[in-house]
Amino acid sequence: MLFDSHCHWDHPDLQAQQPGLWQACVQNDVHDLLIPATVAANWQRQIDLSKLHPHWHLALGLHPYFMDQHAVDHVAQLQQLVAEHKPVAIGEIGLDWHLPEASWAEQESLLLQQLQIAKQAKLPLILHVRKCHDRVLKLLRQQQINGGGIVHAFGGNAQQAQGYAELGFKLGVGGSVTYDRAKKLRRLFAELPLEWLVLETDAPYMPMQHQRRDGQAQAVNKPSHLPYVLDVLVTLRRESRAEIARQTRTNTLQVLNFI
Ligand SMILES: [Zn+2]
Repeated sequence: MLFDSHCHWDHPDLQAQQPGLWQACVQNDVHDLLIPATVAANWQRQIDLSKLHPHWHLALGLHPYFMDQHAVDHVAQLQQLVAEHKPVAIGEIGLDWHLPEASWAEQESLLLQQLQIAKQAKLPLILHVRKCHDRVLKLLRQQQINGGGIVHAFGGNAQQAQGYAELGFKLGVGGSVTYDRAKKLRRLFAELPLEWLVLETDAPYMPMQHQRRDGQAQAVNKPSHLPYVLDVLVTLRRESRAEIARQTRTNTLQVLNFI
């Protein structure tokens, strides 16, 4: 049984394929999804969706990529919804230094406010971090965040991976590891302890290598594609397919406090 630790299940491109898509997930052994949030306007849709199935798990948060869609009162709303709906995590939240530097200070202030919400609610984090792992690690240490979480689509180095592991975080392995070009990332995921890794698709984003090869760079990724990520890990690592499937699922359940 596999757990897609990062799937934007509420996205219209995925919901348009329902109910067949969930059947395809189950057929491919994908039995759990974590649904990360992006902007306040979609929270209710995600909350409603998470109540339709016991294995569709809700996270709530404000994504750093969408600063222009966040308003000052959204943080207070988030705090209220967290108390009311008891999500399994706060996310996705983080810092994105791929965006212009002008937005970094505002991103950081939003992250710090959400770290406090997570701390109060004793919830793990779903982190989105691009080009600034050292900065995020510093903030997590300063804020004494020790409830862990998942660094979604991890693309950092071995030292940063170690830093996250020390704070109780797992590292999301997704579509980018399926790309033949991702040599550095593949080497890293071959060597890191299996106990640190969780699987994800980031669907409908991050199409897998086989979709890109077919000339579909803009193709819709699906949670039912999660076994492709597992297949690549199997070629990279010494453990068996069954062992990698079992351990990555256990890692996800542990970090989300399900076990
Ligand atoms: Zn995401």
